Amino acid sequence: MAILPIVTHPHPVLRKKAKPVQKINASIRKLIDDMTETMYAAPGVGLAAPQVGVSKRIIVVDAQDGSGLFQVINPEIVAAEDFGVMGTEGCLSIPGLVGDVPRYRKVRVTGLNRDGHRIWIDAEGWLARIFQHEIDHLDGILYIDKATNIREVKEEEEEAPEAGEAGEATEAAKAGETGEARAAGGVEAARAGAGASRTGTGAGGPQTGARGAGTSPEAEAGGGE
Ligand SMILES: [Zn+2]
Repeated sequence: MAILPIVTHPHPVLRKKAKPVQKINASIRKLIDDMTETMYAAPGVGLAAPQVGVSKRIIVVDAQDGSGLFQVINPEIVAAEDFGVMGTEGCLSIPGLVGDVPRYRKVRVTGLNRDGHRIWIDAEGWLARIFQHEIDHLDGILYIDKATNIREVKEEEEEAPEAGEAGEATEAAKAGETGEARAAGGVEAARAGAGASRTGTGAGGPQTGARGAGTSPEAEAGGGE
C-alpha cells in the first residue's frame, strides 16, 4: 500500500466525468488499497479516485462512526429521501475551506465491492452525506458548486476533512439542536426522481444534522453535470 498525492482544485481531473471500471483486476484492487491508506492518512472520511488523479468510478468511505469501511466500485445512488438537510463540508482537494451544503438525509447506494460482487448500502445522516459528496466527485462536481457560506476553516473546524467531519455535529451543537429538517429542496428531489423511495434501515451514524436553513439550495451551479 502507498499513500498517494491528493490533487487539488482546480486540477482538471476533478472536473471530468470519471469512467466506470470495466474489469476489477489486481491493479484496481491496489488502487483501492492505496486510496484507503491515503484517506486514513489525510485524515479524511472519504476519497474518490479522481482526487488521486485517476478518472475512474471508485470511492472509499469510512465515516469513523462505527459504520465501517466501504470500498465501492461504480457506485450509484438508486434512492434518496428528504433533500435539504444542511451540513458543513470540506474537501481534501480544496484545503482550507468549508461550506454549508444541502444533501439528502438518506440514500441507498449500490455498486461493486473489490471482489466484483454487487452491494447495497443504506446510509443516513452523516454517512449519507459523505456518499453524496464522494459520488459527486465522480461526476466532476465539487461541494463548492452547491455550498453556501463558503469560508476559511475556523480553528474548531480545522480537523474537518473530506465531507466535513466536524460538520454536522458541530453545527448541531452550535444550534443546540440535534434534529434534521427538510428545507425547500423539492426541485432537486424531483429532478433525481427518487425523492420518495423508502430505503429501509440505514447504516448511518447519529442523527446530528443541523437544522435546515430553509433556503433554496444552489443546485448544481456550474457543476458540469
Ligand atoms: Zn471531496
